[in-house]
Amino acid sequence: MQYKSFFFAMLVGVMLVSCGTKTDNRMELSRGAQQVAALWTAEDGTQAELIQFIADNECKTDSERLVLFESLSRIMERMYESADLLTVELLKPTQLTNAAEPQTPDWIMSGYSPLAHFADDMFANKLAFVTILNFPHYTLEEKNTLGKHWTRQQWAYARMGDVFTTRVPASVNTQMAQALANAENYIADYNIYMGNLRTEDDRKLWDDDKVLLSHWNLRDELKALYGAADGQEKQEMIYQVMQRIVNQTIPQAAINGKDYLWKPYSTQDNAEPYTRYARILETAQAYFAEDAYCPTMPTGIIRNFEGGVEIPAEELDSLFRALVGSKQVQQVASVIRERLGRDLRPYDIWYDGFKARATMDEDALSATTRALYPDANAFAADMWRLLTKMGFYSEDARRIASHIVVEPARGSGHAWPCMGKNEPARLRTRIPASGMDYKGYNIAVHEFGHCVEQVLDMYMIDHYMLSGVPNTAYTEASAFLWQQRDLQLLPSNSVSGLTGVAGLTSNSETVYDQFWSMYEIMGVSLVDMSMWKWIYAHPKATPKELCEATMGIAKKVWNQYYEPVLGEHDCILLAVYSHMVNAPMYLPNYPLGHIVQYQLEEHLAQYKTPAEFAGEYMRIYRLGRLTPKEWMVQAVGEAPSIEPILRAIENSHPQ
Ligand SMILES: [Zn+2]
Repeated sequence: MQYKSFFFAMLVGVMLVSCGTKTDNRMELSRGAQQVAALWTAEDGTQAELIQFIADNECKTDSERLVLFESLSRIMERMYESADLLTVELLKPTQLTNAAEPQTPDWIMSGYSPLAHFADDMFANKLAFVTILNFPHYTLEEKNTLGKHWTRQQWAYARMGDVFTTRVPASVNTQMAQALANAENYIADYNIYMGNLRTEDDRKLWDDDKVLLSHWNLRDELKALYGAADGQEKQEMIYQVMQRIVNQTIPQAAINGKDYLWKPYSTQDNAEPYTRYARILETAQAYFAEDAYCPTMPTGIIRNFEGGVEIPAEELDSLFRALVGSKQVQQVASVIRERLGRDLRPYDIWYDGFKARATMDEDALSATTRALYPDANAFAADMWRLLTKMGFYSEDARRIASHIVVEPARGSGHAWPCMGKNEPARLRTRIPASGMDYKGYNIAVHEFGHCVEQVLDMYMIDHYMLSGVPNTAYTEASAFLWQQRDLQLLPSNSVSGLTGVAGLTSNSETVYDQFWSMYEIMGVSLVDMSMWKWIYAHPKATPKELCEATMGIAKKVWNQYYEPVLGEHDCILLAVYSHMVNAPMYLPNYPLGHIVQYQLEEHLAQYKTPAEFAGEYMRIYRLGRLTPKEWMVQAVGEAPSIEPILRAIENSHPQ
């Protein structure tokens, strides 16, 4: 089928050139026609029907194209919005406390997606082909180069060209969903019974009820042990367990091993048979199966980075290497070394001693926030004040607040975006009967930062097709920006001695904490990205070969950027992340959020009054879904860069 599509594309391309159409958008049409041909199959029609379809459906003038665009935009907005409204309704029992108690049907429907067959249906009724023909897809590189000179309208056209780029059959989608579900189940059911671990001299370090899920709980336990009397011996043992998970020498019986005693330093029983890597290869096979149906983005790596994150893997790679190799790492490491009073160990990538606002009296703050916010309605009623305090004009604040609803969440809270102008952004927060404590308030302000961004780039933007932000890191940056100002946003008599919201410089502990977690997660991301490159170069690899290759990659990254700081040659710790198995190539999103945040903070610091600050924030968050690079250029005048966070570290000196 690939060959036939290619033949169609050639044929149509030749035909259009030989017709010598002389309209202004000849290149566009030719491009669209080629993309239609690449996705057209025998089921869609014969070659003659394809040619006829193109002749019948291509716009002849710019105004025809504009009319078509408006009509398609309307359809997209209604489809996405209606599907979202349905999803929100179906999820209420499982997500909100003011809804019915969730029953079995609610749990079943919580996995239902109204748009699962959307693309299939649109190819079947040929709306997808009409779209592609007149609004062809542009590669990321083209968007970043040609886009510099595009009007907003042209950007919106280009985003229309991103809607239907692939035509993956349902069976292949199912293969991917199954592979990811298998990976998820493997990760979600990988527990270590800490009470069953023994030291070499047969001592037990944990109680029997301590059961930790790999790797998150293991990591969190390790973090919590800083400062504990017997902390380091336990940390060393967790580190040993983690290495045996990565190199797969962990006894199979130790996984969920309720009754199995073992010594992580010496037990050599039947090892786990490379299951970790077999799961990753299953996902790889699903990517390979998709590749054939994605002519403009033919590998999983390209689809993830150029299609999803919209920053090429190579660019992220060099951005991350510049940070993990920076001299600021040593600056932060020396503070940690001093605080621990010992040389650093590899697991100190999870050092947890930098505490934001250690000096604030949290009980007093909680008393304030509890009185202010007894329930979700109280928070909703206060949104206008929060916005005006941030510097928004009264009218803007009223308008933004009118598109946000506050709902009581079952979980810890989240923001649920609006997909069209008939629905609000939703701030979900958990408020106990005693009122919102300070931690809850801090999270609620973070989620509010998401919601404000969502309203600005949905309700106050020029084109629906440009609504949103370039990728998740950019909405996280808005959330961080608000969250860091949570104390300034309290009524002025609650906390004394704080300056205004504009030009806020974060306290040093927070900057150090964020930098150290970036250092950690960027290393893991480098390993993850290199592993996928290796998999694509070795599509027939066995799980054992992938294990060896992954360890080789982890060692290489470690020896170059971590050994000089944390010691230990050939350490494989960076490969322990569970995301590598169940969320392929997702990790780079985390540090990107902080990169964007620091660029924005540095830029916004020039705006001295709250009104100027809020005005500039509004301008930036109404840019919408440009590419990450173009968004940042239009926002602050330069491409994504780690220089602002490096400067923030240089200028910080925690006590
Ligand atoms: Zn967030």
